[in-house]
Amino acid sequence: MSIGIQQIQEALSATTQLTALNATIDNVSIDSRSLQNNAGTLFFALQGQNRDGHTYITELIDKGVANFVVTHVPEKASGRANFFVVDNTLKALQGFAGYYRGLFHFPVIAVTGSNGKTIVKEWLNYLLSPDYNIIRSPKSYNSQVGVPLSVIGINEKHNLGIFEAGISTTGEMKKLEPVIKPDIGILTNIGSAHDEGFNNREEKITEKLKLFTNVKVLILQKNEAIEKHLHHIKTFTWSYNGNADVNVNRRSNILTVVYKDETFSINLPFADDASVENSISCMMVMLHLGYNSQTISERLAGLYPVELRLQVKNGINNCTIIDDSYSADYQSLKIALDFLEQQKTHKKKTIILSDVFQSGFVPDELYNKVAGLLQGNNISKVIGIGETISRQLADFPNFYPFRTTQEFLAQYNPNTFEDETILVKGARSFRFEEIVVLLEEKTHETVLEINLNAVIHNLNFYRSRLKPETRLMVMVKAFGYGSGSYEIAKALSHHKVDYLGVAFADEGIALRNAGVTTPVIVMNPENSAFNAMIAYNIEPEIYSVKELKAFIALAQQKNLSNYPVHIKLDTGMHRLGFEEPQLEELIGLLHNNNFISVQSIFSHLSASDSPQFRDFTLQQIARFEQWSGRLMQQLQINPIRHILNTSGIYNYPEAQFNMVRLGIGLYGVGNDPEELKQLENVGTLKTVILQIKEIEAGESVGYSRRFMAEQKTCIATLPIGYADGIPRAWGNGQGYVMVSGKKAPIAGSICMDMMMVNITNIDCKEGDRVIVFGKQPSVTEIAEALGTIPYEILTGISQRVKRVFYKE
Ligand SMILES: *Cc1c(COP(=O)(O)O)cnc(C)c1O
Repeated sequence: MSIGIQQIQEALSATTQLTALNATIDNVSIDSRSLQNNAGTLFFALQGQNRDGHTYITELIDKGVANFVVTHVPEKASGRANFFVVDNTLKALQGFAGYYRGLFHFPVIAVTGSNGKTIVKEWLNYLLSPDYNIIRSPKSYNSQVGVPLSVIGINEKHNLGIFEAGISTTGEMKKLEPVIKPDIGILTNIGSAHDEGFNNREEKITEKLKLFTNVKVLILQKNEAIEKHLHHIKTFTWSYNGNADVNVNRRSNILTVVYKDETFSINLPFADDASVENSISCMMVMLHLGYNSQTISERLAGLYPVELRLQVKNGINNCTIIDDSYSADYQSLKIALDFLEQQKTHKKKTIILSDVFQSGFVPDELYNKVAGLLQGNNISKVIGIGETISRQLADFPNFYPFRTTQEFLAQYNPNTFEDETILVKGARSFRFEEIVVLLEEKTHETVLEINLNAVIHNLNFYRSRLKPETRLMVMVKAFGYGSGSYEIAKALSHHKVDYLGVAFADEGIALRNAGVTTPVIVMNPENSAFNAMIAYNIEPEIYSVKELKAFIALAQQKNLSNYPVHIKLDTGMHRLGFEEPQLEELIGLLHNNNFISVQSIFSHLSASDSPQFRDFTLQQIARFEQWSGRLMQQLQINPIRHILNTSGIYNYPEAQFNMVRLGIGLYGVGNDPEELKQLENVGTLKTVILQIKEIEAGESVGYSRRFMAEQKTCIATLPIGYADGIPRAWGNGQGYVMVSGKKAPIAGSICMDMMMVNITNIDCKEGDRVIVFGKQPSVTEIAEALGTIPYEILTGISQRVKRVFYKE
């Protein structure tokens, strides 16, 4: 891409404030934190619920960015860069992408539907890449922002585009159509995803079909209900019932396809309904593009499961591994490098990278760009695997070339990796999963998978309920409610939360050691930890006169000035904090004290989740207002005030003061059923089947023979027990796990490290994955059944259970 000022103006119809008339741009960014922003960047200052790109403009100018699309020019930035002023920066981004798209004239495929969009897109890319230079949406970039960014990735060398579009409410598709301008449409299916954003199914269908207003052909499964909306659109349909353009007869994974006068068969590498339907969508595109039946059969037989997630894993020698061992194209490399920067836990950043494919560029040009990216991202060590990358990056500093993955594995020495964050990124054919296995810390098969997208979704849900000026503190105490501390903290600081809250000083120190710079408050500071807290710039909660005196003494001894502290008031919880009679003495100690400074005053609600205690809660809030007001007035200070926890945010929005403290809700657990519906599940505890046995009627299972088989029964043993944090009371037929999507009741008592489940009539085998909790059973369901609260179940999962973090 190389676009001049004139063209940008034409694309945006903006008013301008220009300082450099002959500037050109070669990339577009919306993320102020990306290390990829540079002099060639056109930065769109998007305005979200919680973030405003305008805030970062002066910072970006200092970093060399010189062209901005804004709704207003920030005062301090005026005259220092080119500004394009528009009414709405998101609309402008879409408009710019649409303009840019219009510069190219090759065929473009657009995929939408409730499920399977990303898989169909990825498979089509695999199936068609031998014959085309393809630009496709990276990962699942299918939103109002993701689609324009994907389209802006097009370059002169591409000759086919495949983009996916996803929508969650009405009016969205109309905006994406002119950005993609598809020639060929694919509708995968219409399921129930995002139903809540529409009045009814009809409305959702009509909205989705807007993507196809101008296509030359729309590919879909024969469906009268949908086709009646398709007035002038030419269709190319398939069906299992013999009434479509292409008719398919399916026996498990074997398809017999009848098209025109030809009948041919395809042997698919999987048999589940969804994968088969997605393969058929791909086959339809190949038929439409004129491929012959033999090529279609051969290529479809080579399809593979798609892994789109970037996973963060603990590695050997205190390394952190980011596993993206599935694709290596230029667009997704950019995304992975941004994620690496966001997650890096260690000073050193290493990348293991295979040959890079499908950029459309010639190798010299491509690897020049790759080298530029690696340099811009301050990568300390590059291990290149593949003939081309070995040759092309030979002169790159700290570059270690290997011609094949086998060659790397043969020379692998674990001691060459220590204290670094390693991005493992390779095209599928390089089988980098074998490298990940070596680099990963070895633990048993039970893992708690943490979905970082869900964490951010939940964060944004609560943020959407706050006034724009209310600050947000997130509690990551108790190892992030059992979900992992620094990984979550990193994602949170990336999303600019104002404070992190922990229980003990060492939790805060662990965050600092992992490179988290967001302010941290310790809720139960012990005097013995004050020194360390000061050394790591961590702020104490002050809850008693005794503690305050001790901290002031230390602050004085160290000659600190205005060290931030947080005053806790006890308005009724009766746990920690100053009560009314102590306020006078507190004020006396704080008055004219310059060693410390009251950063915030807060209190904690004891029953914000219980409607029956509403009066009590309102009384707590009133006391807080009054007592904190007295401190502020007598001390002449204006600190942050906060009292709401998760349920408080939900039930008492009027008591936000200047900050709230989000806890359990972030982890996908709400106390109110309506609230819960809006949250996404964060943690999924998975294990595997170690052994399967068949027992006869009358035989028993486990300690004390507490399960008795009444008939022939199949039993599976799982390597997880109460020492991993599964409450023993969940056994004996009370609880269940999910095996192959079905409920398998727990048989007999849960043992220390194992448990047995009844899998009679469930289709499964040894080594299969088992879900202990997640979407179903949910932690809330387990807690309710056992008469406890989700907090206890979550935080009880033992540290020996490995946490794996992923981002979609
Ligand atoms: C744990 C905690 C919170 C968060 O509570 P949730 O119910 O998980 O939202 C807030 N404030 C304080 C002082 C806490 O200890």
